[in-house]
Amino acid sequence: MIARVEPLTTTRRVHGPFDYKLPVAPVDVGSIVRIPFGRQRLTGVVTELATASELPPERLVAPTAVGPDAVPPELVDLALWMAEEYCSTRARALALVLPPPGRPRTELWGLADRPAGEGERLTDGQARVLARLPGPAGADLAALRRLEARGLVRIEPRVRRRAPLTHAEPDRAVALTPEQAAALAKVQAPGEHLLHGVTGSGKTEVYLRAAERTLAAGRGVIVLVPEIALTPQTVARFRARFGDTVALLHSSLSEGERYDEWLRLRRGEARVAVGPRSAVFAPVADLGLVVVDEEHDPAYKHEGDPRYDARLVARRRAAYTGATVVFGTATPRPESWHGLDRVTLSARVDGARLPPVEVRDMRGHHHPLHPDTQAALAAVAGEGGKAIVLLNRRGWSNFLTCRSCGHVWTCPNCDVALVMHRAERAIACHHCGHREGVPSRCAACGSTAVARHGAGTERLEDELAGSLGVEVFRLDADTAAPKDAIGRLLRRFRAAPSGLLVGTQLVAKGHDFPDVTLGVVVDADQTLRFPDFRAEERTFALVAQLAGRAGRGGRAGRVIVQTLSPDASAIVHAARHDAPGFLAEELGRREALRYPPYADLVRVVCVADAARTARAAADAVAAGVEVVLRAPEAARAASSGLAPAVSAAGGPPSSLTEILGPAPLFRLRNRERVQLVVRTGARAAAVAAVGTAVERAARDKRFHRVAFSVDVDPQ
Ligand code: ADP
Ligand code: ZN
Ligand code: ZN
Repeated sequence: MIARVEPLTTTRRVHGPFDYKLPVAPVDVGSIVRIPFGRQRLTGVVTELATASELPPERLVAPTAVGPDAVPPELVDLALWMAEEYCSTRARALALVLPPPGRPRTELWGLADRPAGEGERLTDGQARVLARLPGPAGADLAALRRLEARGLVRIEPRVRRRAPLTHAEPDRAVALTPEQAAALAKVQAPGEHLLHGVTGSGKTEVYLRAAERTLAAGRGVIVLVPEIALTPQTVARFRARFGDTVALLHSSLSEGERYDEWLRLRRGEARVAVGPRSAVFAPVADLGLVVVDEEHDPAYKHEGDPRYDARLVARRRAAYTGATVVFGTATPRPESWHGLDRVTLSARVDGARLPPVEVRDMRGHHHPLHPDTQAALAAVAGEGGKAIVLLNRRGWSNFLTCRSCGHVWTCPNCDVALVMHRAERAIACHHCGHREGVPSRCAACGSTAVARHGAGTERLEDELAGSLGVEVFRLDADTAAPKDAIGRLLRRFRAAPSGLLVGTQLVAKGHDFPDVTLGVVVDADQTLRFPDFRAEERTFALVAQLAGRAGRGGRAGRVIVQTLSPDASAIVHAARHDAPGFLAEELGRREALRYPPYADLVRVVCVADAARTARAAADAVAAGVEVVLRAPEAARAASSGLAPAVSAAGGPPSSLTEILGPAPLFRLRNRERVQLVVRTGARAAAVAAVGTAVERAARDKRFHRVAFSVDVDPQ
């Protein structure tokens, strides 16, 4: 027998696996080993055990060490699939499923070995130490050692769990509504379901019941949430119901906590994993259920390499063990609406109606707030209530211009305007982090007439606090940066008797504040203006989600949406809380334009110092894709690294695959970028073709300094 090992290196040039002799320690698929590799020593993962190698036996060496923790074989397989699906490398994909670094923490414990005999004298201190055993040695270690020498005590290392802190919440036993009971029955059927439930319809209770039944059947559960800090209630409710069976996996845990939670799952001590997208790789054994909460949230897409989408990975993962997948949301993605079995919760649990949404046309208005909005906010402030105000733009003003010569302050590294942040007395680039002082005169003409345009969350906070005299809680990337800042801010807003929560899209996530009666979207066009086919979908979700935050606690709610495009489909339907209506129209548009779910997109971005080079690289990739798709067999023979997907698909008719672009993107961090998008009806073949074309271009001497990134299903 031999072990096939994939070395974990970041270079794209190494294509494993490589054959090794079996080491003395037992290995299996998923074992983590140290291997001699050329002149280096690398960490690798065993991806396969085979009976024989093509190499002569004398050329085979054995790994030098086998790690104590292994990746479940099912996750090795998942990673290998991901590498191909997302045009990445096996090493990078495997890195995502590795155990977190660390080892169990042990501490010394003292245990009484035998009671002290008649004639054995003990000091008061020794008696006190003995009386509290068994227990951690702590500061008494020296005393314990002396007692150990006399045979009275044993000292031994024990594992001590590092448990993450969660905010406790008492479990509430509720009887399911008939609609919830019907939904529960449906989502438990094997397969993939979309649980479309309006905000406050009790989706979480359905997840909890489904999880309960899964656990009762002896199987494991993964619950994905967009971001732990924004969904403390979901985590708390799973903890309240299932206690220590729940392991929490997310990036703000300490290294030790993350390791211990991983190990508890790996050993089956915990059977429910709750976490953000990376929790889809939790080592849950015999997975029976995956819940993807708020499935519309863009946070499920990973922006590193591989650019995986946790929603798709979840489906793939569930298939290994026949697990059921439940995608829950009030605002489904067109892809989910189109492709999944639909289960509906049409009413709020408390019987409350969804709040009426009033659209205000902002054309011709100059103040960022419509007079009706100002009046509504003043009324809430007057009666000591709470409101949420969404403005998806941080900072003080959007951009600065010179009134005399029209100069616009832009980033020296990126082709974007600098945004003013008044508290920091800086104008800043939101893309590269460049900062400079707020100008008092124009750099071009010397005029002191510097105009500030538009309003961001910082200015809105200032204005509202000033004009209404209420406490304003601002939630955006600037205030959310310190560890647990989001959690603290949300808890303060919840505890406050009154106030305004003002912020970017972070305020529209699944929060449940029962005393919020007013929701305001200040500039619904912000997302709508985005040059992206998902702009409508995003806007609908943002407005409908924000609308769902108001009027939850049995009080009447009201929502105001300010927009320059009151007739846009996303806004009209969101104002009616009409997701099915919006989705029907949106799917019609997508079909006509051949966008997902009616076609797949693969995006390639070429980044270089000079625009010419980036463009030439993109042209080379485009030409390469054409060649591979037109002659898959020939191309396959010519390239050793080509994924087998092309031959499996038999080579698609090229009419099904089109190349959009190449087209320039704005300069970012002093680098020029050109992108091309491949639109295809033959996904696997197109992904493989892009992979081959990019690999060839990357080998071309002219493009040695070009960075290529491939994004399958770009968001
Ligand atoms: P969603 O996730 O759909 O927005 P939640 O699951 O957060 O809705 O439910 C909203 C509120 O209703 C929560 O406070 C929850 O505890 C409560 N709730 C859910 N189901 C029931 C029920 N069957 N009876 C009473 N209260 C319920
Ligand atoms: Zn000027
Ligand atoms: Zn910049």
